[in-house]
Amino acid sequence: MRSINSRFVSPKLLQKVLEERLNSRVDAMVETGLVQELLDFHRRYNEQRIKSNTSADYTTGIFQSIGFKEFHAYLVLPEEERREKKGKELLEKGITDLKQVTRRYSKKQEKWVMNRIIRRSDRQVPPVYVLDCTDISKWNNCVYEPAVTIIETILRGEKPEQKPINESVENQKFNDSSNEEKHFCDICERVFIGDYQWDIHMTSTKHMRALKRKKRLEQQKEVEENR
Ligand SMILES: [Zn+2]
Repeated sequence: MRSINSRFVSPKLLQKVLEERLNSRVDAMVETGLVQELLDFHRRYNEQRIKSNTSADYTTGIFQSIGFKEFHAYLVLPEEERREKKGKELLEKGITDLKQVTRRYSKKQEKWVMNRIIRRSDRQVPPVYVLDCTDISKWNNCVYEPAVTIIETILRGEKPEQKPINESVENQKFNDSSNEEKHFCDICERVFIGDYQWDIHMTSTKHMRALKRKKRLEQQKEVEENR
């Protein structure tokens, strides 16, 4: 039997498995009546809006939730047209777009977990252990049993054989920097340890791009508020 530490899942495979699952989740949502639900919702909320001649605002409330705005073009079609070629194409496009935003959202979530939990050194985060759930048919072997083993080991007051992911990431990124000063970049929401890492970050294209984006958003907001 391979030890837990030698188990390695390539990021490429992880991404592929995740995308397949997200896509089939959208398909399952469609199969279990997502479109009818959206049509009902649209009828109740959007018809009133069209009558009062106000435009749809997809930046507030329920309208910004994933899965509604993607189907807008389809939903506003008259019933007969929805059943025609154009309607079917718009429905397909809605489903494709929904899959895309779902995948994009999952990347956002992953980044959030990495930055807020795994890579953070400015707050107390318990050890985080990676379990391989790429193959559901091996759930007991790859997820359940390793999880129980880790918990039992910790409860006995011992150190699990598997290293926590936040331990090794921290060592990789900030090796032997426990005495160095921490810097927090508000723009990128990341912590940097030591002046050296901080200086590199402040002049990096990644940071510059984020700074530009933030400024642009602020300007947009100002324009909108002064309208
Ligand atoms: Zn930054």
